[in-house]
Amino acid sequence: MTDLLIRNAALVATVDVDRRELSGGWVAITGGLVSGVGSSVDPEPAADRAIDADGCLVTPGLVNTHHHLYQNLTRAYTPMTSAPLFGWLQTLYPLWTAAIDEESEFLAAWVGLAELALSGCTTSSDHHYLHPPRAGDLLGAEIAAAADIGMRFHPTYGSMSLSVKDGGLPPDDAVRDEDDILAESERHVARHHDSSHDSMVQIALAPCSPFSVSTDLMIRSAELAERLGVRLHTHLAENSEDDEFAIASFGMRPVDYYEHCGWMTDRTWGAHVVMPNPEEVGRLGSAGVGIAHCPSSNMILASGIAPVVDMHHAGCHVGLGCDGSSSADSASLWQEARLSMLAGKLKSGADKMTARLALEIATRGGAGCLGRVGEIGELSVGAVGDVAVWKMDGPIFAGVLDDPIEGWLRCGPTSAWHTIVAGRPVVENGLLVSPKLDEMLADHRIAARRFQPA
Ligand SMILES: [Zn+2]
Repeated sequence: MTDLLIRNAALVATVDVDRRELSGGWVAITGGLVSGVGSSVDPEPAADRAIDADGCLVTPGLVNTHHHLYQNLTRAYTPMTSAPLFGWLQTLYPLWTAAIDEESEFLAAWVGLAELALSGCTTSSDHHYLHPPRAGDLLGAEIAAAADIGMRFHPTYGSMSLSVKDGGLPPDDAVRDEDDILAESERHVARHHDSSHDSMVQIALAPCSPFSVSTDLMIRSAELAERLGVRLHTHLAENSEDDEFAIASFGMRPVDYYEHCGWMTDRTWGAHVVMPNPEEVGRLGSAGVGIAHCPSSNMILASGIAPVVDMHHAGCHVGLGCDGSSSADSASLWQEARLSMLAGKLKSGADKMTARLALEIATRGGAGCLGRVGEIGELSVGAVGDVAVWKMDGPIFAGVLDDPIEGWLRCGPTSAWHTIVAGRPVVENGLLVSPKLDEMLADHRIAARRFQPA
């Protein structure tokens, strides 16, 4: 017997290996996995529970490949709403370092993941690089939040080791000893990483950026990830300041530095990647490097428009990221998908970036970044039962008759009607299923005030 049947959809966009689109389609989920997919002419299985998706677009759950969840504690912080990347970071580092603890990390992750679920996201990464001494087990706190809300989670053990006195960007009290960082990384992988097919938690290693860790830590992190069989993540070629820093500090451009440190492999995914030239795009693609495309953040920090269409066609796994909630500052994967379509058209031509390609980046591409193609980001038998159901009615969708996928991303703003993770609804009828939301928001507001001096 099927556990859950989502039936009668206007269209099921499978984003599977054949990119099937099924009119009047249905998706069956059993034991947390997709057990069947069909169109209106295929017989439906009997199910314990059915969701009527009449008039809805059904897609795989969206995949978020880059975030800093704790940053929603300093959203739209007034002194920093108009600064580029380096100045923005240097003002916020001391506030974050002074206030972060397990309780605030749990609240930030819970609220941030709830926001993502409401936008159709079912799997999120988090690049948590802030581990000041005495802050406690921050990775453990956010993993507990993800489990409580029911989201599939890929936290990364991030790190900073190069402070201002050593030529880096963060303050002295925000960085850690490199041997400690590697030992902590290994401990977190041993405690939390689950490599099984339908895993709910996977850990990656993630030195923060070339301007906050040493070359030695970049190299040793890559070696440790290889030994432990986990993925590697960092910020890469984010803006012109990043380019200038790499040339001044290492005598080479960021993509060359990435390769120099042993990172030019399909085990890695880089965030932003706004600045690669055409030759570098070719090398990234040949290596199968993943790209976390973060269009809102890239626009708000005026970093530029990443060449995502070129990187996708070169062979990169291009996924979407909402980036930290105090740079982006929203965390809606639907909105990132729409912006990736708009920015892609502006950068590469109106016909080069479609809603279908944006949907692919938001789902299957993200699975590639996280090393889980065939498991997440598609609706096919054996993949995980992670589904987003999008209601397509009301004034904003009036007139959308023939192409629900273009309509889904061109019209809006919108959020998911149902978000289902491993066959369990996290969002139902547009509302979070958990009864804790009001309580969490009240506590989050108190915590945020500690981060933002009045
Ligand atoms: Zn980031």
